[in-house]
Amino acid sequence: MVKRGLQTLLVTAALCLFGPQGAKADKPPFEGSIFIEPDIIKKSDTSMYLGLNFQRVVSKNFYDDRAREALPAEFFRFAATYKNSKPVTFDINMEVWDVTIATGIADGYGRILGQLPLVLRTNVKHVVVHETGEGWFANADGLVIIQNGDFALNKRQGVLEELFFHESVHTSLDRKIERMRGWQQAQKSDPAFITDYAEWSPIYEDVAETFLIHYALVMRPERVSRRTLRKINKSIPNRLRFLGTLYPASKLGL
Ligand SMILES: [Zn+2]
Repeated sequence: MVKRGLQTLLVTAALCLFGPQGAKADKPPFEGSIFIEPDIIKKSDTSMYLGLNFQRVVSKNFYDDRAREALPAEFFRFAATYKNSKPVTFDINMEVWDVTIATGIADGYGRILGQLPLVLRTNVKHVVVHETGEGWFANADGLVIIQNGDFALNKRQGVLEELFFHESVHTSLDRKIERMRGWQQAQKSDPAFITDYAEWSPIYEDVAETFLIHYALVMRPERVSRRTLRKINKSIPNRLRFLGTLYPASKLGL
């Protein structure tokens, strides 16, 4: 999950509640990893996305961050197809009113999903988009819920791709990595967490926050500034070494 504003509040609250024992001696160099280098994946980068078919209108209960619970609603349902992975269901909340608008939304996110490495797409089965709200959500059962209220801001900042990347790590890799002894040892040995968000939630957010950085350094090093690189290497060398062994470049392709 990624939130703005609230994230800062929660970090402050967590530090107040638990004091310094949960934190490392060194402060994380960044607040949230999707904002570190917003061009890790660019709009113009290749996508494995092939296209979209409208299927029908469905009535479903999905989590909605605006209500902080699952609510019944009607959705325009689409099937998005990809060159080298299974079709993905996109449900666009009918609060957008028009199937043409819903098609544009599903098409945009469908293409972004196809820009993510295959290892992150394998378990993304179902994407739900609510028209407003902020906090995105994903689980290990293959569901990603997008609250589209910050769409214009995220697009302007160039972080839509990085946001989807972060959520897809929750869907496809969290369970594989978070309990591995090598990962937990790397967490303990590193001087710091990479972001405030990872430090706030070491079990649920550290993998997603760190994996984007690992991907950037291995696959898009030219898009990471030297200053950023210095901060990353100083904070999480053991995590990067661990992820480098587990997911080298040969496993990070589209
Ligand atoms: Zn998250």
